[in-house]
Amino acid sequence: MTTDPDVAGAEGVDTAALEAARIEAGRLLFAAPCTFVYASQRIDQLPGPRGPEVAFAGRSNVGKSSLMNALTGHSALARVSNTPGRTRQLNFFDLGGRLTLVDMPGYGYAKAGKDIKSDWQGLMFNYLRGRPSLRRVLLLLDARIELKDADRAVMDLLDRAAVTFQLVLTKADGVKPAALARKLADVVAVVRKHPAAHPEVAVTSSATGEGIAALRAALAELAM
Ligand code: GDP
Repeated sequence: MTTDPDVAGAEGVDTAALEAARIEAGRLLFAAPCTFVYASQRIDQLPGPRGPEVAFAGRSNVGKSSLMNALTGHSALARVSNTPGRTRQLNFFDLGGRLTLVDMPGYGYAKAGKDIKSDWQGLMFNYLRGRPSLRRVLLLLDARIELKDADRAVMDLLDRAAVTFQLVLTKADGVKPAALARKLADVVAVVRKHPAAHPEVAVTSSATGEGIAALRAALAELAM
């Protein structure tokens, strides 16, 4: 579906009503119960595909647990981690029987060093490239800090796995509007270099709720 005002206007479609319907579809999807299904530490232990999947990835401490909790309205769906880099498994959650959310281990935590890297080259890469039900990876980037080598490495890996990934700027509340606009422009330039990248970049804050309804709406388009 298009949200381009020109195209929609030409067809005489009420874009405000369409947008409201998208937001409502997202709200409804994420109002459904979200329950833990399975944790995998090995590629031969993945749960069978249950329908469309969306995976959440990002550097440790990027705000991934907080974002998953904000989207689902849970206070501790994905436990807000006190020990970055500790979880090295894929956690699968069922959202209303319509979408599976997959919490991927945080990467790039300095103290975890080689282990995280080999996790990502091993289990994570195998999961990413061998999962037909995986519709999209949300790759989270902290709006307040520079892109790191580990982020670039994961984007290259996603290109190689040919999995569509969408960048999500987190902690937008921590940046002034002008700096946020610059950051967004930088990130859009990065997106253009990656064949697997989704053209839209989401901007979110789990602290203020900014961008949460819009991201729910985007994910609802991928649900059953
Ligand atoms: P994870 O390691 O990626 O799961 O990150 P967490 O969700 O555990 O968050 C890491 C830290 O960032 C915690 O101290 C959170 O309180 C903080 N944080 C998460 N989301 C936001 C946000 O939207 N705004 C701000 N200012 N801080 C956030």
